[in-house]
Amino acid sequence: MALMKRGKRLAVVDDGSATAASRVAAGLVTTLAGKGMNPAWRQAEYWPRSLAYYRALEEASGQTLFHAQPVLRLFGDDKEAAKFARKKAQVADWVGSDAPQIDLAQVHGGFGGFEMAQGGRLDTQVYLAVVREQLMKAGVDCVDTAFDSAELQSTDAGLRWRDLEAKQVILCQGARGLRSGPFSDMEHRCAKGEMLTVRVPELEQQRIINRNGWMVPIGDGLWRAGATYGWDDLEPNPTESGRAGVLKKVAELTPLAFDIVSHDAGVRPIIRKSQPVIAFSEDYPGLSCFNGLGSKGVITAPCVAEQFAAFLCGEIDALDPDLLLS
Ligand SMILES: Cc1cc2nc3c(=O)[nH]c(=O)nc-3n(C[C@H](O)[C@H](O)[C@H](O)COP(=O)(O)OP(=O)(O)OC[C@H]3O[C@@H](n4cnc5c(N)ncnc54)[C@H](O)[C@@H]3O)c2cc1C
Repeated sequence: MALMKRGKRLAVVDDGSATAASRVAAGLVTTLAGKGMNPAWRQAEYWPRSLAYYRALEEASGQTLFHAQPVLRLFGDDKEAAKFARKKAQVADWVGSDAPQIDLAQVHGGFGGFEMAQGGRLDTQVYLAVVREQLMKAGVDCVDTAFDSAELQSTDAGLRWRDLEAKQVILCQGARGLRSGPFSDMEHRCAKGEMLTVRVPELEQQRIINRNGWMVPIGDGLWRAGATYGWDDLEPNPTESGRAGVLKKVAELTPLAFDIVSHDAGVRPIIRKSQPVIAFSEDYPGLSCFNGLGSKGVITAPCVAEQFAAFLCGEIDALDPDLLLS
């Protein structure tokens, strides 16, 4: 989108893999995440700009992409509650309420919790459909097929792949691009994640619920719940152990009965936690990759894409060194 906006002639090659992280992701923005209850890398700078990008796309498409929702973070024990009490002044921008209403018949919230501010959920499926629609409208060549870098050739003009010639080829392949192809020698810590969609008829909440896992209301009594982290098996298929892992998380969040509706899996492209990476090939001038969005693609991707496009179009002399591997 950032290159399209600059009027560049583009082709997008994508085989539309149903298990690509962006197609299965919950799209959450939890602004104080994990055990440490910390903002993501560059969150204060990136999130307002990324949100403005999603809102502009909503206006252009007439579709809702980002659902702003409070995130109820439950504490697991008194130690965690005390940890939050010590740090809440430092992270006040991301705290919506430090004394939220918690209905113990609905959620396991005996140790209390807080509500995050500025959080919510990007509907990644709708987002991807809208992006594709915008690309098609702008006349971008969308080639729905698999890309094999073995077919890439250097030419005097740049690079050739089949009958397409380009000055620049950017591989944005997620975990697949870290496991094979020209950038697979980069060290990575890709993590498989499994999620369930569950029906919880008696859970009456509009908040996302979070603690060592999350449950996100998606309407009609349905919730997306997840997600596991696994580093050994990186095949993006649902497994019994993944299902058991998510069931445990759901049982830790709510005492209410539920049914499983569906089960999905994908692999998070992680290079250095959720700090993305832009890298350039030494073998093919003009070949680069944009990867490593980790668990925070919703917050970081639009801003990093914008910076990369500005660099490729000569608007800035250098990329932010934090985006390059040293
Ligand atoms: C279970 C799970 C939950 C997540 N939850 C969240 C969340 O709540 N919030 C958040 O911000 N992030 C979340 N993430 C992380 C987020 O999904 C990723 O950061 C982001 O989607 C990565 O985007 P990407 O474009 O780099 O990779 P991908 O989404 O994997 O996209 C790569 C694209 O390249 C295509 N492709 C790859 N190789 C080829 C090839 N050889 N030929 C043709 N096409 C190819 C694929 O089809 C795909 O379209 C989650 C991830 C998982 C797995």
